[in-house]
Amino acid sequence: MAKEDYYELLGVPRNASDSDIKKSFRRLAMKYHPDRNTDNPDAEEKFKKIKEAYEVLSDQKKRSAYDQFGHAGVDPSMGGAGGFSGFGGESFSDIFSDVFGDIFSGGGGARRRGRAQRGSDLRYNLDLSLEEAVAGAEVKIRVPTYVGCDECGGTGAKKGSGPVTCSTCHGQGAVRMQQGFFSVQQTCPSCRGTGQQIKDPCRACHGQGRVQDTKTLSVKIPAGVDAGDRIRLAGEGEAGEGGGPSGDLYVQVNVKEHPIFTRDGANLYCEVPIGFPTACLGGDLEVPTLDGKVMLKIPPETQTGRSFRLRGKGVKPVRGGAVGDLICRVRVETPVNLSREQTDLIRKLDESLSGGGSTHSPQAHGWLDGVKQFFDKLGL
Ligand SMILES: [Zn+2]
Ligand SMILES: [Zn+2]
Repeated sequence: MAKEDYYELLGVPRNASDSDIKKSFRRLAMKYHPDRNTDNPDAEEKFKKIKEAYEVLSDQKKRSAYDQFGHAGVDPSMGGAGGFSGFGGESFSDIFSDVFGDIFSGGGGARRRGRAQRGSDLRYNLDLSLEEAVAGAEVKIRVPTYVGCDECGGTGAKKGSGPVTCSTCHGQGAVRMQQGFFSVQQTCPSCRGTGQQIKDPCRACHGQGRVQDTKTLSVKIPAGVDAGDRIRLAGEGEAGEGGGPSGDLYVQVNVKEHPIFTRDGANLYCEVPIGFPTACLGGDLEVPTLDGKVMLKIPPETQTGRSFRLRGKGVKPVRGGAVGDLICRVRVETPVNLSREQTDLIRKLDESLSGGGSTHSPQAHGWLDGVKQFFDKLGL
């Protein structure tokens, strides 16, 4: 049997907008919904057809496959592209919640939650110095949160009383409501789905079973943590409602910028300025590490940018593995504030060095040769 055209089923033109399609489906679905047509068996058949049409035309991918290939484009038995699954029989609610919104959110029956609900997880952003992150630390933090109510022990009911079964829903947590033509199951408005009511609420927490407070916690930071690491403190989040379990607290580590060191994984980096004479003649240099000073040997004729690796002076990663290194990168500093005498000495040094040709500055000469060849090629 030839299938009916989806656009004709929904009574819309082929260039109909998404909202027109939705509007039309909504109108037809209201008209043919089986709940409204108990004495008309044809209505259900019609309803299935318009639902199928809507499922295809409301999906960008399926709609364009249908436009191009017709029913073959969206029917999996014909090798179509859409992966479209046919009408399942019982799943009115999923597509309905899309079109009709909340009124169907009760779906297959409201879930009974009980009064006790788990509290929310919390996140605390913790700024650490590099030293604290590397060595570990114990820090005190203050967290504004909910804590269990002492007055009622978390039940939310006044001392000596307790929650009673909800009289509206008789403990079911849901009620059936007449919504237009449909009978819809809804979360019970009296008890908000819990099935229980508190007749005499605790005055301290107004029946919530928890109160706002600021907790002071001591957090152990393990050695080697890095920016972006998270420390989970189980049960230190918000207290649950109605005596429910607490959520967790996540401490999010951020590491402040250090004036000397930068960190990359297990390695530390620092930049060390050295004087022009030290760069020429070599020498011993005192460099900082996170656990004190060490001597670094600068060999004669050291160029700027050269790196020296101090093994094991980096960070021991929190997740295990070898201790990293400290990498010192030297930068030769040009002398400033020169006296006449110093200027003369450098001029003399320059004359002396120029006499040696390319031997004293191989890099500069190599570079100048390159520039010369470049100009030669251009014919300058
Ligand atoms: Zn209370
Ligand atoms: Zn109720």
